[in-house]
Amino acid sequence: MNQRKSGGPRGGSGKGANGGGPGMVMGDMVSCWLCSNPVSTRALFCHTCGTIQPPRVLDPFTRLGLPIRFDLDPAAVERQFAGFQRTLSPERFESKGPREKSNARAQLDAFRHAHDTLRDPIRRARHLLDIAHGAAARRAPLADPELDALEAELAAAGDTVELDRLANHATREMERCIHDLSAAFRANDFDTATRVVHRLERLEALAGAARERRPGLRGDAS
Ligand SMILES: [Zn+2]
Repeated sequence: MNQRKSGGPRGGSGKGANGGGPGMVMGDMVSCWLCSNPVSTRALFCHTCGTIQPPRVLDPFTRLGLPIRFDLDPAAVERQFAGFQRTLSPERFESKGPREKSNARAQLDAFRHAHDTLRDPIRRARHLLDIAHGAAARRAPLADPELDALEAELAAAGDTVELDRLANHATREMERCIHDLSAAFRANDFDTATRVVHRLERLEALAGAARERRPGLRGDAS
């Protein structure tokens, strides 16, 4: 069962993997910049005159026509993005006016940004927390002594073996955290999700710092 797209995705046809999603929402209408007729915030093209619209403020899930949830099929994210990328490819707007060209460019940028956000589990989680749980998501992180200790170990690490061990440890911890995050979101446990996101951010920074310091230590053994 192959989903054949004739005209490429057209904003409103979000087909979430589980059939959910905001599909039929008609509430958010704006005016077409060219003909002034009402057009949905999710539509790439005016329903009346067919002209490319500028990108509107949308969460990355809605923009890509995906369900708003943490567990996303990576293949579905890529498929949606590729479809919109084809629809918005600059060659298709070569014969159009400057405003249409710049709208298409801005749309493509917005889709790239949404794609980058949803591909990265930490950024995806942060957006979900913003959508579902705005204020609490920005709460100050709780104390995490285990990470304090890891960061102290990193500061004291003096050779590549130690740095690699710390980077690997952080990476493994991150994988565990992503499982925890997935479970927390499924349970709508946003407090836990917020805590795990904070932890992931610190682990990511730690792994990055360990790798960054590594090349400078080459030749350590001599
Ligand atoms: Zn129009």
